[in-house]
Amino acid sequence: MGRPGFGRRYGERPVRYSAAGLVSRGLTHRDWTPMWRRHDLKPRYDVVIIGGGVHGLAAAYYLAANHGISNVAVLDKGYIGGGGSGRNTAILRSNYLTPEGVRFYERSMELYRGLAADLNFNVMFARRGHLTLAHNDGSLRTMRWRAEVNKLQGVDSDVIGPDEIKRLVPYLDVSAQARYPVLGALYHPPGGIIRHDAVVWGYARGAAALGVHLHQNTEVTGIDVAGGQVRGVRTSQGDIATRTVLNATAGWSTLISDMAGVALPIQTFPLQAAVTEPVRPFLGTVIVSGTLHVYVSQTDRGELVFGASVDPFTSYSMRGSLEFIEGLAGHVLELMPSLTKVRVLRQWAGLCDMTPDFSPVMGRTPVDGFLTDVGWGTYGFKAGPVSGEAMAECIATGRTPDIIAAFGLGRFADGTLVGEKGAAAVGH
Ligand SMILES: Cc1cc2nc3c(=O)[nH]c(=O)nc-3n(C[C@H](O)[C@H](O)[C@H](O)COP(=O)(O)OP(=O)(O)OC[C@H]3O[C@@H](n4cnc5c(N)ncnc54)[C@H](O)[C@@H]3O)c2cc1C
Repeated sequence: MGRPGFGRRYGERPVRYSAAGLVSRGLTHRDWTPMWRRHDLKPRYDVVIIGGGVHGLAAAYYLAANHGISNVAVLDKGYIGGGGSGRNTAILRSNYLTPEGVRFYERSMELYRGLAADLNFNVMFARRGHLTLAHNDGSLRTMRWRAEVNKLQGVDSDVIGPDEIKRLVPYLDVSAQARYPVLGALYHPPGGIIRHDAVVWGYARGAAALGVHLHQNTEVTGIDVAGGQVRGVRTSQGDIATRTVLNATAGWSTLISDMAGVALPIQTFPLQAAVTEPVRPFLGTVIVSGTLHVYVSQTDRGELVFGASVDPFTSYSMRGSLEFIEGLAGHVLELMPSLTKVRVLRQWAGLCDMTPDFSPVMGRTPVDGFLTDVGWGTYGFKAGPVSGEAMAECIATGRTPDIIAAFGLGRFADGTLVGEKGAAAVGH
C-alpha cells in the first residue's frame, strides 16, 4: 500500500525540520508551530486507541500512513508519553531467545533505524552494542543458545570472553577477584539507545499530521459491549461511539480489559531506574547483568543511566524508593568499582504489565472489535514500531499478521506459551 506522506491527504502539513529551517528561525526569531492541534472530542470515531504511549501512537500513525484510516482518536488520561514510554531507559535490541521473539524485535529495530527519516524527526538512535554478562555456567549456556537462535534469524549476536569484554569496556572489573567474576557475555553489536520522548513526539506529530485526533486528559471510564461486539467507550470528556477499540495501556491494561469483560493473565509491577550527574564519556556499550539485576548505559550528555528488575510486589505506585537505590548502587559498584564518587541525580519509577511467559498479548480477543497490544513488561519500548505496524494491519484487514500470530491471548488456554524469560528478565 502506498504511503500518503505528511499532510498530503488527511491533515494539515506540519513544519518540515531541516538545518536550513533551524538557521532561518534562529535568525528571524519566528516561533515553532505546535506539533499537533487540539480537537473537540467527536461523538464517533472509526477506531479508538486507549493509551498515548509509543504503542498507541505508533498504531495510530501506521493506521493512517499505511492504510489510510485516519478517523482515529488516541485517548490518554494524562499526557502523551506520561506512562512507561516517557520513563524507560530506552534500550533497543533484538537478541531474544525464541525465534518468534527474535523475528519480531528485529523488525522493530529495522523500523527504528529508518524512523527519523520516516517521521522527519530526530529520534537520536545511537548504535552502541549491547553486552549481557554471564557470571555462571547456567547463564553462559543460555547465551550460547540465544546466540545460535539469533544467528539463524540473521541477527548479529555472539558469545565473547573476558578479554574481548575488557577491550570493549576497559572500566569493567573482569578479574577473577571480582565479587561475581565475569565468565563471558552475549555481544549484540546492533543494540543501542534512543531518545524515548522524541520517539513518542515523532509518532504523535506524524499521526496528527495525517488526521488522527490526540486527546490528552481524557480518561476512559467504561467500554460498552453489546451482543459480543464493542459499541463505544465512555470517557471523562464524554461518550464516543465506535466499533473498534485498541487497548494500549501497558501497566493499566487489565483495568481497561476488565471494562470490556476480557480477562488478561497480566500483573502490574513497578520498575525503577536512576540517572547520575554527567561524567566524561567512558562507556560506549550497554551493559546488562541478569545475575546482579542491573544494567547501565551512558547518554550522549555523559549521564549514566541505571536500571534493574521490577520491584518484588504488585502495585500501581510510581514512586522511587530508598531501598531500590541502595541495592542498585551496591550492584553497580560490584561491576565498576571506579564509580564510587559519581553522584545520583534522579530516580523514578514506571509500571510494567508482566505476563507469565514474558511475551506480549497482541491481537483480537473474544469480544469483537476489542483488541489488545499489551503485556510489555520491562521490554516494550523497543517493540513500539513493529507493534504499531502489526496492530494497524490487524485492525485494517481483520487478519492477524504472521509476525504477531504467536502472541495471541489464546496461547494461555491452549498451552503454547512463548517463553522469553531467559532474554527478557533484566534484559531490556
Ligand atoms: C524504568 C523503566 C525502564 C524501562 N526500560 C526499557 C528499555 O530500556 N527498553 C524497552 O524496550 N522497554 C523498557 N521499559 C518498558 C517500556 O517503557 C514499556 O513497555 C513501554 O513504554 C510501554 O509502552 P505503551 O505505549 O504500551 O504504554 P505506556 O507508555 O505506559 O502508555 C500507556 C498510557 O495509557 C494511559 N492510560 C492508562 N489508563 C488509561 C485510561 N483509563 N484512559 C486513558 N488512558 C489511560 C496512561 O496514561 C499511559 O500514558 C522500561 C520501563 C520502565 C518503567
